[in-house]
Amino acid sequence: MSTYEHGWGWPLRANKPHYFIEGSSLCGRWNGYGGPLESGRGRDQHDCQACVSALAKSPAAQAPAAPDATTDAFGGVLHTEVRH
Ligand SMILES: [Zn+2]
Repeated sequence: MSTYEHGWGWPLRANKPHYFIEGSSLCGRWNGYGGPLESGRGRDQHDCQACVSALAKSPAAQAPAAPDATTDAFGGVLHTEVRH
């Protein structure tokens, strides 16, 4: 499982949605969130504004998953030759 989980989530005890990356909110108020995530939020005034501003400064979080880049980054390392 190498899926990069990120999106808007709404913890049961939160009064507004926050943006989560791998279970942690960008504003730092929430950790360990494992509920559903959705994209396409962040323009609603009810969304966490700290998360909205943090997300705006984080282009990597907004970009869709880029499997090609990940393959390029790790391709050479994973195929290290092992001789016995
Ligand atoms: Zn937040």
